[in-house]
Amino acid sequence: MKLSVLGCSGSDLPGHHLTSFLVNEHILLDAGSVTSNLSLDEQAAITDIFVTHAHLDHIKDILFLADNLIEFFGHHTRPPVNIHGLPDVLDAISTHLLNDTIWPDFTVIPANSPVLTYMPMPARTLVSAGGIKVAACPVNHAKCASGFVLWGQDEDEALAYTGDTGPSPEWWDFLTTMPATVKNVITEASFPNHLEELATISKHLTPKLLRRELERLPYRPKVYIYHMKAPFSEQIQEELHLAMDGYSYHLLREGETFDF
Ligand SMILES: [Zn+2]
Ligand SMILES: [Zn+2]
Repeated sequence: MKLSVLGCSGSDLPGHHLTSFLVNEHILLDAGSVTSNLSLDEQAAITDIFVTHAHLDHIKDILFLADNLIEFFGHHTRPPVNIHGLPDVLDAISTHLLNDTIWPDFTVIPANSPVLTYMPMPARTLVSAGGIKVAACPVNHAKCASGFVLWGQDEDEALAYTGDTGPSPEWWDFLTTMPATVKNVITEASFPNHLEELATISKHLTPKLLRRELERLPYRPKVYIYHMKAPFSEQIQEELHLAMDGYSYHLLREGETFDF
């Protein structure tokens, strides 16, 4: 599975793009910064979007992607781009965003062959899309949110992506039930330790809370960290250095590509 980092910041600033990962060139994990990073041809190659939750920093480019791709639809020559997520996440996008008030409803435009379609995923159920398998498990964030576990061709290895999350015992328990070892975990550290109260109320993690979460697993995966709030990034990095002692970890950067 090839994963490219389009954006991995918890802030929108020059040089800091919002969360979006491109898998095997045609699947998006979240859609915070797609249209400013990919050419029109690269955008046209996208077939599936997996959305962890409906916060704007993870979905906003669904809007502009749909607008950019309109010329490719309406002729019955290709199926719509599938938006996958927990049912309540997709309901939130449909009710509050693609509602013809904030943005046109591209699930009915063009009328005869629309750009987008919703594919609700039940929690803890395997879905096949674009040559990979994906399962969603709820995490503690927003009104409704999930992380995803992904398998490529190698069925013995899985990649997990928590999305934004606060402490979530249910999620880490879910990873221990996977038939494949989850060797790589993408997860978050949004705030520094002294802002634990803010992290807790907004359902995010600090380096200290992240360490506590990882210790719920009976083994130590390689950890890839995203969603640092840019104004605190230096402090978070220093604190991760201590908090992640004994773990192999990597701070994700825009433009990086990995083979999982
Ligand atoms: Zn969020
Ligand atoms: Zn976020």
